[in-house]
Amino acid sequence: MLVTLLVTAAALGIAYLLCYGGIRGPVDWIMRTAHHGRRDRRQVALTFDDGPDPARTPALLDELAAQGVKATFFLVGSAVDAHPALCRRIVDEGHEVGNHTYTHPYLPLTRTRAVTRELVATDRAIAASAGVVPTIARPPYGGRAPWTVRAFTRLAKRIVLWDVNSFDWRGDPAPEVAQRVLDRTRAGSIILMHEARTGGEVTVEAVRLLVPALRARGFELVTVSDMLRPRDPAGSARGVRPRAPLTAAAVKS
Ligand SMILES: [Zn+2]
Repeated sequence: MLVTLLVTAAALGIAYLLCYGGIRGPVDWIMRTAHHGRRDRRQVALTFDDGPDPARTPALLDELAAQGVKATFFLVGSAVDAHPALCRRIVDEGHEVGNHTYTHPYLPLTRTRAVTRELVATDRAIAASAGVVPTIARPPYGGRAPWTVRAFTRLAKRIVLWDVNSFDWRGDPAPEVAQRVLDRTRAGSIILMHEARTGGEVTVEAVRLLVPALRARGFELVTVSDMLRPRDPAGSARGVRPRAPLTAAAVKS
C-alpha cells in the first residue's frame, strides 16, 4: 500500500515537472508569468506564434494594417534567419516581437544550456534583422519547467502565455475560430493564434472577422507589453522592462 502511494506520488511529481505546460505553479509565481493582463481594463492582445512565414505573414500584416491593429508576434529564430525582411516588416509596422526559441523544442525536455542557446540565438536573429531585442518570450507549447527559469531570467525575458486559445490550427472554418475566441475573451485576455502552422490557413480570415467584433464589444486591441504596463507610466516597475536591458549591439557581439 505504502509502496503504491510512493510510486504514484513519484509518477505525479515527474509528470508535473515534465508536463508543466497547462499547469500553473511555483515557476510562474517566481517568473511572474503573464497569462493575461488586467481584468479591469477593456484591452486585449492578439498574439501570433511560429512565424515569420513567407506564405502567411504578408497577408496577415496587410489585414492588421487595414484594421489598424497592433499585435504581438512570437517569432521562431530559425524562421527569422530564413526570412529577415519579414521580421523587419513586422517591427517596422509597429507590432511587438517576442522570443519563441530558435528551433521550437519542448523546453521541459531540453537541457538548460540548450534552452539558453535557443533564446540567445533567437535574440540575435531578431536583433540582426530588425534592430530590437524582445523583452517577452513564449516557450513552445507553453512548456516550462523549474530548470528553464534561469535561462529566461538571465536574459531578462518575461514569459507570456495566453488565456484564450483560438485552436486556429485545427482546420475549423474561420467563423468558428472567430466565435470561439469571442466567447472566451474577457478584459485583459491574451489571445493565442498562429501565423505558421499546418491547418492554420484560416487565421487571416478569422482576424478579419474578429477585430470588428471585439471592438464592437468595447475592447481595445493592444500589444502584450502595452497591456502589461502598469497604469502609472512613470512607475519604475514597468512589467516588461528587463532588469538589465539588452541592447541590439550587445546581443550581436
Ligand atoms: Zn509555437
